[in-house]
Amino acid sequence: MPDAKPILETFPIGPLQCNCTILGDPATKEAIVIDPGEEIGRIHRRLTDLGLKLKQILITHAHIDHVGGALRLKQLTGAPILLNENDLPLLQMMEMQAGWLGMPTPETAPPDESLRDGMRVGLDSYPADVLHTPGHTQGSVCLHFVPMKMLIAGDTLFAGSIGRTDLPGGNGRQLIDSIHTRLLVLPEETHVIPGHGPATTIGLEKDSNPFLTGRL
Ligand SMILES: [Zn+2]
Repeated sequence: MPDAKPILETFPIGPLQCNCTILGDPATKEAIVIDPGEEIGRIHRRLTDLGLKLKQILITHAHIDHVGGALRLKQLTGAPILLNENDLPLLQMMEMQAGWLGMPTPETAPPDESLRDGMRVGLDSYPADVLHTPGHTQGSVCLHFVPMKMLIAGDTLFAGSIGRTDLPGGNGRQLIDSIHTRLLVLPEETHVIPGHGPATTIGLEKDSNPFLTGRL
């Protein structure tokens, strides 16, 4: 990992306050954006203000609040969209998803590439390993930035909570299994940025998340 600190900005967007993250390399000026669900004008302006060139649009799962603005951001920047193929059925249900929220249906397109388990994505200086963590949806992934000791968790794991599993493609048992076998095995100091709400660490969740300690 280079000496310079990465540009790292996480901010909530849209009515469901999905956490969108911009990660940039201050030396190469390359960047990735994770989960641009909405407010694409604002995200694009921020990239421009920071002088960053977008290399990848990474989507943790195909719920509208995470993926809704991806195509618009691709049209503005030319960056490819990566999304796990198991969430393609959800992507095709965008009109229904918009209906759940009473929102206009965003235009979507199939991803340029599937975010497959074990794949390396991100920037040369700040790479991430893809962890397929089905349960919240069948194509849910987490992004483990190993050198940065950081995990982008999507809606799989939250501070003190876990993702809902009552929507199409959700499976509660599978979600718990994904969290235990793929996330709680990561180093305890790993900084976790969930898809909604405040940040946490793997160690904190292992010790105190009531959905994981057996207390619920
Ligand atoms: Zn979700």
